Amino acid sequence: MPTVARAVRRPTPRPDAPGLVDSWGRTATDLRISLTDRCNLRCTYCMPAEGLPTRPSAALLQADEILRLAGIAVRDLGVRQVRFTGGEPLLRRDLIDIVAACASLDPRPEISLTTNAIGLSSRAAALAAAGLDRINVSLDTVHAATFLEVTRRPFLDRVLAGIDAAAGAGLAPIKINAVLLRGVNDGEAADLLAWALDRGHQLRFIEQMPLDADHAWDRGTMITAAEIRGRLEERFRLEPDDEPRDGAPAELFRVHARHGGDLLGRVGVIASVTEPFCADCRRTRLTAEGGVRSCLFSHEETDLLGPLRSGASDAELADLWRAAMWAKPPSHGVHDASFRQPERTMSAIGG
Ligand code: SAM
Repeated sequence: MPTVARAVRRPTPRPDAPGLVDSWGRTATDLRISLTDRCNLRCTYCMPAEGLPTRPSAALLQADEILRLAGIAVRDLGVRQVRFTGGEPLLRRDLIDIVAACASLDPRPEISLTTNAIGLSSRAAALAAAGLDRINVSLDTVHAATFLEVTRRPFLDRVLAGIDAAAGAGLAPIKINAVLLRGVNDGEAADLLAWALDRGHQLRFIEQMPLDADHAWDRGTMITAAEIRGRLEERFRLEPDDEPRDGAPAELFRVHARHGGDLLGRVGVIASVTEPFCADCRRTRLTAEGGVRSCLFSHEETDLLGPLRSGASDAELADLWRAAMWAKPPSHGVHDASFRQPERTMSAIGG
C-alpha cells in the first residue's frame, strides 16, 4: 500500500509560524524554481511532438523578480535549497547571472540545477564559478537510437559532452535522473547503470508519473520500482544501502558485480507512484510565471508575480506563499479513485 502523509491534520487557523508549514505537519525548505516553460527536447512522457504553447518572456519571472522571491524564501520562509529547473533552464540566457545573484543571498542557499545538459559544455565552468553547487542531468539512455525515440531529438552527443564538461568543472558527483518506458528503454537500464558507475555518476531511476501532455500514462504498463530493481539485477547484485534516507525520495542500493564482491557504487530508485514519499515532502515550487504550487499534482496555483508587479511588500508576498503552502494536500492522490491529472505537464510546472 502506498504511504500517505500522517493523517493528523493541524488545527486551523494557520499558526503564525515563520516557515512554509502545511496543515499536515510538513515544512517546505526545498524550493524549485522553473526558469522557463520552453524545452529543446520533446520527451514522449512529458511533451507532445509539436511542443506546447509557450508564454512571451515578459510574462515570465524576470531575473530581478526571481531574486526577490528567492530572497524572501531564504530570509523569511526558511528555504535552504534552491533548485533551478524548467522547461530547460539552460535556455535562459541570464542563467549564470541568476545563479550568481542567488549565491549572494544571505543566508546562502544550496543551489542546484536540473537540466538536459544540451549546451552545458560551454557553460558548466561559468555556472560552477557563479556558485552552482550541484547538478542533476536527465538522461534515459546511452544509446543514440533510443535517445532519439524517447526525446524525438538526435542530441545524445551534446548531452554526453555537457555531462563531461560538468564533471570537468568540478560539479561532480553528478546525479543522473532516468525514466524507464516499457518497450522503449526498459531493457537498457543495466547499460545506463554500467555507464554511470564507470564515470562515478549517481544514477536515480524515477517511476514515470501521470504528467505527460499526451495523457498516455498508464498505471498498468508503467515500469514500477520493483521492476526497475529486477532489470538491474539481471546484471548486478543490489543490496539495500543502510545509510538513513532522512526524507530523501530515492531508495539507495549498493551495487556489486553479479558474481563479485567489490562495491561498484550506488543506485537510487524513486518510487514516486508505487511508494510515494508525500509524508516527507519538503518541496515548494514556483512556476516560470511566478505561481506557487504546493504539490506537483496541484490543480491550484497562487500567483505571486501579479501582486509583486502591483507593488506588494515582501511581507505580503511571504504571507501569500505561506497561505498557499498551508493548503498543501496530504498526498499527490495518484492512487485515489478521484485522481485527475493536472492540466500542466512536468515541463510546464518545473520538474
Ligand atoms: N529540462 C530539464 C531536464 O531535462 O532535466 C528540467 C525539466 S524536466 C521536466 C525535469 C525532470 O522531469 C526530468 O528528469 C524528466 O525526466 C522528468 N519528467 C518529466 N516528465 C515526467 C514524468 N511524466 N514522470 C516522471 N518524470 C518526468
